[in-house]
Amino acid sequence: MSKREDILIIGGGVIGVCTAYYLAERGWTVTLVEKDDIGAGCSYGNAGLIVPSHAIPLAAPGALTQGLKWLLDPDSPFYIKPRFDLELFRWLWRFRAACKEGPMRRAIPVLLALGRASVELFEELAASNDLEFGYEQKGWLWLFNSQRGFEKGIEEAHLLQEFGVVSQVLDAAGIRRMELSVTPSVIGGIYYPEDAHLIPDRFVRELARLAESRGACLKTATEVLGFETTSRRISAVVTTRGNFKPDQVVLATGAWSPVVARELRLRLPIQAAKGYSITVKTPPTRPHVPLYLSESRVAVTPMGELLRFGGTLELVGLDLSINRRRVAAISQAAREYLSGMTGLELIEIWRGLRSVSPDGLPIIGRSKSLENLIVASGHGMLGMSLGPITGKLVSQILSGEAPAIDLTPLRVERFS
Ligand SMILES: Cc1cc2nc3c(=O)[nH]c(=O)nc-3n(C[C@H](O)[C@H](O)[C@H](O)COP(=O)(O)OP(=O)(O)OC[C@H]3O[C@@H](n4cnc5c(N)ncnc54)[C@H](O)[C@@H]3O)c2cc1C
Repeated sequence: MSKREDILIIGGGVIGVCTAYYLAERGWTVTLVEKDDIGAGCSYGNAGLIVPSHAIPLAAPGALTQGLKWLLDPDSPFYIKPRFDLELFRWLWRFRAACKEGPMRRAIPVLLALGRASVELFEELAASNDLEFGYEQKGWLWLFNSQRGFEKGIEEAHLLQEFGVVSQVLDAAGIRRMELSVTPSVIGGIYYPEDAHLIPDRFVRELARLAESRGACLKTATEVLGFETTSRRISAVVTTRGNFKPDQVVLATGAWSPVVARELRLRLPIQAAKGYSITVKTPPTRPHVPLYLSESRVAVTPMGELLRFGGTLELVGLDLSINRRRVAAISQAAREYLSGMTGLELIEIWRGLRSVSPDGLPIIGRSKSLENLIVASGHGMLGMSLGPITGKLVSQILSGEAPAIDLTPLRVERFS
């Protein structure tokens, strides 16, 4: 089997599906191939937070010291599996270089611009009668149960204010006026009103349906095995369901991107970072706004009838096993910060692999080494938030338009 397509997108997560949608909307002939099912990767069980305020990258001053402390604690939200892996060492070296004031300050306005542009697109999509994905803009409330954590949170809020992010610092009484479900251990909070939330798997499925109705062809259970190249072009994409001969290829395979890119002799400095979520039936004393249990790094998101807790970052390669101790630590954090969190009806424990770049910025753009390859990966903790703007930017690159946002800081070869 051999077909000619205009554009082939590899990966059916939020990034691939948003790209398919914006390209199909512009009339491109689009095929998306996904090895599993649409939205079955990291885009399925994440916390669903759409958070332009979360613009301080993971690589920030102090992140290394904090990470080293956490490494010694098996209940902490961070872990690196000890192993001899040159790619991991290179990644950690670059991460270390990015954990400085200068790179962090350069990354903040980039993430903020991407986040805000994405929110506008989410609003457009939510306003259309064609889609329903539980989108609500109720802000995001960070809770603190230690003075040190609260002070650090206030420092971060002040830093973000310098870049125009609005926030409100609340004392214990202020928190209780906003959110009755907190325990007495919570001493303060910071509210970010700009942020929103949605039901992630529903968003991806609904947008995939809309992309198909605009003519995109989505092929599930189709795994990319390799490529054929001639001079500096991909001439064929080899899959478990035959070869495709697209004009252009978009690589949107999230945490698997370095593995797929290796087949093209392209080195992408991306590490898979595993996280967990626990979804329960909404208890009577449910939180009304999305929360962040700051010291424990756990996000809490109301999703209609369901409530989801998400957290943990484990650099363990593509290992999808579930560490029950860390899952238990997420439940324990919920009980520490929130009342009524015992005897909950479990719906699902889930794990997913984020694709994390060393500088905390996604990798979006044309590859220099292969002229018909576009990479859209490395979205880290923000892939759900940045899905629509990434899809839009890729559609602009392919259409030869000036991108809505300067892509220089996101370019593929910036690490080489
Ligand atoms: C616990 C947790 C909570 C999170 N919470 C949030 C949040 O609140 N807000 C936010 O913005 N982000 C959040 N994230 C991050 C977000 O989930 C990811 O950044 C986002 O889902 C990445 O989307 P993606 O499309 O790049 O990857 P994925 O959704 O993983 O999609 C990649 C797809 O590529 C497919 N694929 C891989 N290899 C091949 C191949 N060879 N051939 C064909 N297909 C292939 C995979 O099967 C997969 O479906 C969270 C992540 C975790 C783990």
